Formats: sequence, C-alpha cells, structure tokens
Amino acid sequence: MTKEKNTDKVYFGPTPDPDLLNAKEFWEGAKKNILMLPKCNKCKKFFFYPRIICPKEGCHSRDIVWEKASGKGKIYTFAIQHIATDGWKEAVPFVTAFIDTEENVRMLSVIANVNPEDPDSIKIGSNVTIKFDKVEDDIFMPYWEVV
Ligand SMILES: [Zn+2]
Repeated sequence: MTKEKNTDKVYFGPTPDPDLLNAKEFWEGAKKNILMLPKCNKCKKFFFYPRIICPKEGCHSRDIVWEKASGKGKIYTFAIQHIATDGWKEAVPFVTAFIDTEENVRMLSVIANVNPEDPDSIKIGSNVTIKFDKVEDDIFMPYWEVV
C-alpha cells in the first residue's frame, strides 16, 4: 500500500522551544524568512549551532553577535533517509544534507525540491537557498532548495 505524502509540509520533527539554547535571534529571523547566524566579534567568524562561546580553536570569546546571512550555500554531502522515527516516518523517503553556507558554516538540514527516488539527480556542490516551513504561528523551520 502506498501512502500519500503531504507535499506542502517539509518539517516533520518536534516543535522547538525558541526560548532555549540562546537562539532567540535565529527564530526571530526565521519568522521573517531570514537566516540569522551567530558570529564571533573577536575572530569575526560565523558558527552554527548557536552557543554562548565562540567554538573556534584559540578564540573562545564570549563576545557573540548575530548577523543576517545570505541564505545561500552549497551541498557538501547528502543522504536519502528511508527509515525515520516519530513524525518523520510519514516523510520517508526524504533527503538530508550538510549545507556549507556562504558564511563558511556547515548546517544539517533537509533539501525539499529534490527527488529522493533518484539520488543520481542530486549533485554535491549544487547551489541551494534557504526556505522556511511554518510549523506553528511563531515557529518557522529552515530547509533548503536547490536553485
Ligand atoms: Zn571567535
């Protein structure tokens, strides 16, 4: 029996709490379809996931600012997910990927506009752009699309 996939929905995971993890700026940006990234004010490097301390070796500054990112990147690598738990079960098969953003940050995410049944059509190095899926009134989850 083939289950019909809901093609409007991209994110099938639990709803995150935007007040946790020092990531308020990230979630506020997501509401406006803007990728906000933490940046170290000392070494001037972006990083992800959000932290209260710069993760770059030899820096570890606590002087962190948030800046608007380009929302553009490239596929570093990807995988087709055929088995998933919880809400993601209804999404299989789907494509997850590590995205290298123009700010030199690597993010794990979902790529929405590719065919998981045809992995050869998905190319490492492809340009991608970020989109946001409205999960709840105030929660927008990022995903990426090949451009
Ligand atoms: Zn730093």
